[in-house]
Amino acid sequence: VTNQVSLKALNAFITPPSVEGAFADELREEKVSPGDEGLSQSPIKGKVIAVKDNISTAEQATSCASALLDCYSSPFPATVVQRLKDAGAVVTGSTNMDEFGMGSDSMNSYFGPVKNAISHDLSAGGSSGGSAVAVATGQCHAALGTDTGGSVRLPAAYNGIIGFKPSYGMISRWGVVAYANSLDTVGILAKNTIEVGRVFAMARGYDSHDPTSLSEATRLMIEQKLGDHNSRKEARQTALHFGVPEEYNVQELQPAVRDAWICTLQRLQEAGHSVKPISLPATKIALSAYYVLAPAEASSNLAKYDGARYGRKTNNSRNTGDVLYSTTRGQGFGEEVRRRVLLGAFSLSAGAIDNYFKQAQKVRRLIQLDFNRAFLFQHPLMDSIDEGVSEADKVDFIISPTAQSTPPQLSELQHMDHVSSYSADVLTVPASLAGLPAISVPVSMVEEQASTGTESTPIGMQITGQYGTDSAVLSAAGMLE
Ligand code: GLN
Repeated sequence: VTNQVSLKALNAFITPPSVEGAFADELREEKVSPGDEGLSQSPIKGKVIAVKDNISTAEQATSCASALLDCYSSPFPATVVQRLKDAGAVVTGSTNMDEFGMGSDSMNSYFGPVKNAISHDLSAGGSSGGSAVAVATGQCHAALGTDTGGSVRLPAAYNGIIGFKPSYGMISRWGVVAYANSLDTVGILAKNTIEVGRVFAMARGYDSHDPTSLSEATRLMIEQKLGDHNSRKEARQTALHFGVPEEYNVQELQPAVRDAWICTLQRLQEAGHSVKPISLPATKIALSAYYVLAPAEASSNLAKYDGARYGRKTNNSRNTGDVLYSTTRGQGFGEEVRRRVLLGAFSLSAGAIDNYFKQAQKVRRLIQLDFNRAFLFQHPLMDSIDEGVSEADKVDFIISPTAQSTPPQLSELQHMDHVSSYSADVLTVPASLAGLPAISVPVSMVEEQASTGTESTPIGMQITGQYGTDSAVLSAAGMLE
């Protein structure tokens, strides 16, 4: 009972997993009998998978942790949820998050903050903090999150588990509430890469409902171009080349994080892989570009929550028209969401679009080009540009820490201004802007002095690969486990 009470205090769930779901978990081993209607082949049969509260299940509410959608239930499940169910998974429980995915600490939730699985006074990371904590505390086998600028990788790093953001377009977004469409991806959190790989294998696939879902033909073409790369890495026989971007060695990097990075590079070298310094010059402006683009898309996406079409209407019945809209939105959206909507509306406005939105799009392109220059393999969907970088300087993967620090204290966050909290995403947004697969793997724990004595905090390393090399990224991550 004590355990249950303390688990509850972590606030990982908005809708807890159903009792049957939890039982299914316990009974799983006995229930799976060979030849069981074809599903016995499914690697996720009977596995309990929780989903972030911005992914529709049609069985429970999908609130996005917002007062505005508090009681909203989608009439249909997200394609990804349906796919996992079809594969025999028990999809149950909606996890707590930053409202609409906007935040890095899971503090911006209408349902109260999520607490870190390892130490209750630390940040759980965000915005998929509930999913990370649910996995880390063994309340589900795996969880789905969404990653727009780092929201799966950061909480995974802060809670000592794996968080994987696939290439953009691999997993359908149909039924996933949009934050910034061009960046949003569904990601997977679990305790090891094998489990992540199993869920990914069932979750990925073309969906005609999502216009950005990769078609069967494109998937085939990617496999033809990169298949060797993907399977060669799976065999783990070849010496791989890991790039270390000098621009990621930011001044703000905590010494313990830098040490863990160096240690990881040494481990890779000892295992026969090579480590090369690389340069991704546009990194410095990636965060600013992200915080122009993501709010711009968000301001457009969130326009539909007006109390008439979606969302809880203001209860003052005399309000009509514009007043109805503004009162509903003023009351329903939290502070951070209102800030982003205003920022986005501004950067898209006639007077500002040239200086903000368009510039940020150009930066996004530079970031994509930086990555293309670094990788040995060509981007399978982009024309090759000969930029004069010699083969010898190119790499299979890029390796960096996931976050510049260990999880911050919740007490520190209360005094932090919002711009400083945006900087937690500095190492994760570049892969998002380029749509690349990236994963966070826990590599070490550091002992830190806290108000309550010494406590151990986890450090995550991030591996990023060329577009479409998702399997290779997963297997490279497996080498660090
Ligand atoms: N922290 C970032 C933001 O607030 C990333 C969020 C996300 O990936 N959903 O926008």
